[in-house]
Amino acid sequence: MTSTTRINHIGLVVDDIDEALKFWRDGLGLKVAYVEDVPGQGAVVAFLSNGNQEVELVKPTDEHSGISRFLQERGPGMHHICLEVVDLAGYLERLQSMGVELINAEPVLGTGGRLIAFIHPKSTHGVLVELYELTPEEPEIRLALAGELADRALIQGQRVAAGVLGFLRGLRQDQHSEDDTN
Ligand code: ZN
Repeated sequence: MTSTTRINHIGLVVDDIDEALKFWRDGLGLKVAYVEDVPGQGAVVAFLSNGNQEVELVKPTDEHSGISRFLQERGPGMHHICLEVVDLAGYLERLQSMGVELINAEPVLGTGGRLIAFIHPKSTHGVLVELYELTPEEPEIRLALAGELADRALIQGQRVAAGVLGFLRGLRQDQHSEDDTN
């Protein structure tokens, strides 16, 4: 069993991505690296990178989602920590055999096309832990998923934080020859 390899990102719940960008992007200089609409989790996520690790801003889009309840009950703030592992299925098996409470007993497809699993804070001494198994295809999957969001957001006028529209426009210009920015 290998150790987790590194912290991939720290997840923060925010009620306004644009407001959060004023600090995390404009203040600290992190760059918007990736944006995805995750209807299954009732949230839009924006990943900000320093070129090595990332901060994930999670904004609820569905008032009935778990993430929305989290925001309502606790306010904006730290939501989860994500660690990279090499053999996610093997990890989950081992943790389960130790009696660790897993939210995902099997790896599920997460943002950016990665295999992920969440571990319940009850078993981690109080913090929601996300495990990632990276795939070599991740850059292409990220691009395709963000491209889909760019199309929807920019063509259908879907409400997405203004601060990430520049990122989405850039993507869309890469993928399509025309420039449709309403
Ligand atoms: Zn995350």
